[in-house]
Amino acid sequence: MNDVDVVVIGSGIGGLVAGALLARYGKSVVVCESHTIAGGAAHSFSRRGFHFDSGPSFYCGLSDPTSLNPLRQVLDALDESIDAVPYDPFGHYHFPDRTIPIYGSLDRYRATLAELSPEGAIEFDRLKPRLLSLYAAMQGIPTLTLRADVALIPVLLSRHLPSLLKLLPQLGAIQGSVADLMRDLRDPWLRRLIDLECFLLSGLKAEGTIAPEIAFMVGERSRSVVDYPIGGSGAIVEALVRGLRRWGGEVRLGAHVEQILLESGRAVGVRLRSGETLRASTVISNASVWDTYCHLLKPEDLPSSYRQQALQTPTIDSFMHLHLGIRAEELDALTGHHVVVHDYDSDLTAPGNTCMISIPSVWDSSLAPAGHHVVHAYTLEPYEGWSRDTAYDTRKRDRAEPLFRALERIISDVRQRVVLELIGTPLTHAHYLRRHQGTYGPAIVAKQGMFPGPKTPIAGLYRVGDSTMPGIGVPAVAASGILCANSLVQSSQTAKLVQQVLTQNQ
Ligand SMILES: Cc1cc2nc3c(=O)[nH]c(=O)nc-3n(C[C@H](O)[C@H](O)[C@H](O)COP(=O)(O)OP(=O)(O)OC[C@H]3O[C@@H](n4cnc5c(N)ncnc54)[C@H](O)[C@@H]3O)c2cc1C
Repeated sequence: MNDVDVVVIGSGIGGLVAGALLARYGKSVVVCESHTIAGGAAHSFSRRGFHFDSGPSFYCGLSDPTSLNPLRQVLDALDESIDAVPYDPFGHYHFPDRTIPIYGSLDRYRATLAELSPEGAIEFDRLKPRLLSLYAAMQGIPTLTLRADVALIPVLLSRHLPSLLKLLPQLGAIQGSVADLMRDLRDPWLRRLIDLECFLLSGLKAEGTIAPEIAFMVGERSRSVVDYPIGGSGAIVEALVRGLRRWGGEVRLGAHVEQILLESGRAVGVRLRSGETLRASTVISNASVWDTYCHLLKPEDLPSSYRQQALQTPTIDSFMHLHLGIRAEELDALTGHHVVVHDYDSDLTAPGNTCMISIPSVWDSSLAPAGHHVVHAYTLEPYEGWSRDTAYDTRKRDRAEPLFRALERIISDVRQRVVLELIGTPLTHAHYLRRHQGTYGPAIVAKQGMFPGPKTPIAGLYRVGDSTMPGIGVPAVAASGILCANSLVQSSQTAKLVQQVLTQNQ
């Protein structure tokens, strides 16, 4: 006797999407979240009237019904929506000697580049059609129709043949890296900007980032809108939780899963830290590959070569975080998103060199008390070497320094404005996000490896989230949830759902 059809371990965006879609398909679903707040990397938290995003804040297409953002398609399927504020420029990129605005529109992107380097703008004219033709080829097949098993083939052949034919000539580019699309392009500014765009998305530069990821981002930014959800990233999580509940699913917070239960080699449920067991015919883990295979299963549960290979997946570093509440007087011209590169001579990916900054109270004043702004700044930081020893506090302050210096590029007297300061280290990140070494995700380099699909060698056990296909980032993990959920139902059920969404959007 099962308690439910599906147990999902973890309420990251990937877990919530998979759980909510399966509830939408009529399955009984329980999502067990270890933390007391849902959302994983995308959760919001509050201190003294300041509402912080713990992770993502760069979004697009949330308020655009025509967006190809898989998250938006899922919200439509759940009859949910979120209010979002469109804005442009998307952000300001601050280099050691100059600051440039980055706009969604590719013509304006080119104009910015032309001011930096006329040659770069000319080369961009060669890169742009390569990216847009890849995006156009992907455009015809909505992510909501996709699944991760052989049943995808008849779906594509019967319902999306023209789009499939458009995609075929792009197969090489789809499997290649962004750098492959730029082999004949030499301009240092163009290369630096594209490396930075890749890094912001995948944590890797152009050489390591798969081409469709950037093509999708460039295409969506220019065709749809760049926008920020009112209420912060937590508003997205709330919409998914509402959607899950609307279709009969349940989220349990503070419900840490200790073990995935197997019988005769098949997953049959989970045991919580409280000692309670939940039996289910399907278990979906939204925990990372390392956490799932090291902590939730016993070593003997998996074929040893498979386990070894999976656990050898390289990691991207963790983060230093700075969450600040600041006084807002005389900051009327402040904009919300910034990326600061401190040093041309250091690699973009070097810890502390590239700092991401989000000040979302610029768009949604309810995120901070009146007269204040809420600030989140973060930069890569290796997990190794961090421990809560006597040097912890000093080291923490020291490693937060590049973030303060980055903020000073935008608000010169930021240190005098601080009324609330929280510094997070890789240990904080690993603790609150329940992630192996607080990693941003797998460092799977284009052409050297591929993100695995949702299936595992254990019958009844599936995985979703940023250590599965297509990879890291909110749209990507939403897509992973779709792939997993659709693979667990008949393709006719998916076709019916997609049709309903199309009709409702007309
Ligand atoms: C600092 C930062 C900034 C980012 N910025 C952006 C951005 O601007 N735009 C963008 O698109 N993406 C961004 N990303 C990436 C994006 O946020 C993540 O890729 C995505 O949210 C990860 O989702 P996930 O589904 O893989 O799950 P996760 O967010 O990793 O969630 C997994 C969940 O599982 C839970 N869990 C783990 N183990 C257990 C257990 N044993 N029992 C119960 N629960 C468990 C965890 O508590 C967690 O809630 C950012 C990420 C970070 C860290």
